[in-house]
Amino acid sequence: MPDQSSSVAGLQDVQARMARAAHDAARAVDAVTLVAVSKTYEAPDILPMLEAGQRVFGENRVQEAKAKWPALKAQYADVTLHLIGPLQSNKAAEAVALFDCIETIDRPKIAQAVAAEMGKQGRALELFVQINTGEEPQKAGIAPKEAKSFVHYCRDELKLKVAGLMCIPPAEDMAAPHFALLAKMAMELGLPKLSMGMSSDFECAISLGATHVRVGSAIFGARV
Ligand SMILES: *Cc1c(COP(=O)(O)O)cnc(C)c1O
Repeated sequence: MPDQSSSVAGLQDVQARMARAAHDAARAVDAVTLVAVSKTYEAPDILPMLEAGQRVFGENRVQEAKAKWPALKAQYADVTLHLIGPLQSNKAAEAVALFDCIETIDRPKIAQAVAAEMGKQGRALELFVQINTGEEPQKAGIAPKEAKSFVHYCRDELKLKVAGLMCIPPAEDMAAPHFALLAKMAMELGLPKLSMGMSSDFECAISLGATHVRVGSAIFGARV
């Protein structure tokens, strides 16, 4: 368990750096949402963040989130939970029931499964399409050149409301060109939201238009 006072200090430091980056980019401070990535951390580590007022959290595994978030959500009903890791279609029902936002719509089969479950459960989640901006074969996401047809498929065939785009740049690349590409694609597609930027590069992402930054280790400390 990380030191709780230091993780709240980490949260406050990230919030201050986000505000400064927004200010420097002549953007409103509240135009950028902090998604606190709590993967691998347990309830005792997450509770101080909730007590400090943080309400938006990201998890990358459905099973892990299911083990800890229902109890936390019962205590803090206004929590918003984002799925930021790949979704398997056999987990779509659980994901739609638990999460408020899925950032990783990355193939037709997942879009279909999520659309069907939202209909069945009467839930409307916020959805982002994940773009593989680095065209890495091992990484999830839609190739940039297929983004337009995929977003239209989601909208027109599945009647899904797509809120925005998400990317995870290749670890070895400079992130800025990937963020700029994602911002350009979202603008061309008329999508208002951009989830990009992590602990090492969220200020750069804010300067390039991020509306959501996903920050874990800069808040909670290094994952073990
Ligand atoms: C773990 C994770 C993050 C947070 O990474 P940090 O470097 O700890 O900030 C952001 N996005 C995704 C998709 C992740 O899996």
